[in-house]
Amino acid sequence: MSDIPNPRRKPKPEVATLDGRRLKPSTLMMGYGYDPVLSEGALKPPIFLTSTFVFESAEAGKRHFEGITGKRAGGSEGLVYSRFNGPNQEILEDRLGVWDGAEDALVFSSGMTAICTLMMAYCGQGDVIVHSGPLYAASEGFVAKVLSRFGVGYVDFPAGATRGELDAVLERAKAKAAETGGRVAMIYLESPGNPTNALVDIEAVRAARDAALDPDETPIAIDNTFLGPLWQSPLRHGADIVVYSLTKYAGGHSDLVAGGISGARRWMYPVRGLRNTMGGICDPNTAWMLLRSLETLEIRMQRATRNAVRICDFLKDHPKVESVGFLGLLREGRQKDIYDRHCTGPGSTFSLFIKGGEAESFRFLDALKVAKLAVSLGGTETLASHPAAMTHLSVPDERKAQLGITDNLVRISIGIEDADDLIADFGQALAAV
Ligand SMILES: *Cc1c(COP(=O)(O)O)cnc(C)c1O
Repeated sequence: MSDIPNPRRKPKPEVATLDGRRLKPSTLMMGYGYDPVLSEGALKPPIFLTSTFVFESAEAGKRHFEGITGKRAGGSEGLVYSRFNGPNQEILEDRLGVWDGAEDALVFSSGMTAICTLMMAYCGQGDVIVHSGPLYAASEGFVAKVLSRFGVGYVDFPAGATRGELDAVLERAKAKAAETGGRVAMIYLESPGNPTNALVDIEAVRAARDAALDPDETPIAIDNTFLGPLWQSPLRHGADIVVYSLTKYAGGHSDLVAGGISGARRWMYPVRGLRNTMGGICDPNTAWMLLRSLETLEIRMQRATRNAVRICDFLKDHPKVESVGFLGLLREGRQKDIYDRHCTGPGSTFSLFIKGGEAESFRFLDALKVAKLAVSLGGTETLASHPAAMTHLSVPDERKAQLGITDNLVRISIGIEDADDLIADFGQALAAV
């Protein structure tokens, strides 16, 4: 039978190297995983709006379905049906994997679809999930309110926990799992945490996991939305699976919603299987938009971070400001030590504590002229919001106090505007307080 050109054919490894030197992600974002010859010479991948794909032969169709259904390990060799895979999504997955140095990646219709599918793929009745706190509110809610309905328990620990504390947490989790007849199915981290910016010591979590549990049975997953993929590469520090809301820095223009996970093929495999069953794969148009976004990811994140460093330097000494929670201002202690080992830059999302309470914070937010009053982060434009009254409104007061989510906390995500214009805007808004 004829060999139908297939625009998603996996890139050969040598495509990523030149004279034996590995090309950098910023170079590979312009073409990796896509061969123009297979798409009429189009420099950019077309958007493949199709629900299904024509097989080269009946034998090939059978082989592809063996991959899709898990009858044969390793996933599908070809395109089958758009709930399972598609050219735009597979190119995006190849490129997302490049940033993380991961063997494989999967993209989803939202960050939460990625997170929920990941957790469901690994946790069953009686199992326990161990997680750092705080987590993104919807992630925490999914564990506490949804997985619990299916008999999955959890044990949480504060983000900055030491090796000794982690050992104790894992012992507690193992005891709990033994009681319910399950196992510790996953360690799920978020670092830095939202909205406090507290960092998790991934290396310590890895050491504690390897000592207490079977490393082949219990993966360490981490939500890397705030710093990734540029400023933190958790797979290098011992995590097995990296999770993203691609809506944020990866998408970067506040115009799409998507999610992704990456890691070794064996860790992706069960998640791919569940995504095949449930759907939740990113749509081709969004995947195409993300391919465009990834081309400028490095310069966007670098510029936003440079801006944030200058703006926080201005804010930290302002008389109306109580303090600034920015990774770039860490000077000493355990958090600084974790930062130095895990992060190559502070990102551009931080907490601003205004002197006063909700009234003063609201006056500041309402007075902003350049920065927009909206939740979300990681876009080209600067956004400001009030976690206690918005993203974390549903969190009980006691837990809010525990996590440091106070009424005078304003969360800011710096964009790529001119830094002096942003400083002028924050200056006039603070004067209005
Ligand atoms: C936004 C966000 C999510 C959820 O992602 P969606 O794309 O909105 O579903 C998860 N984790 C973190 C840290 C986030 O900021």
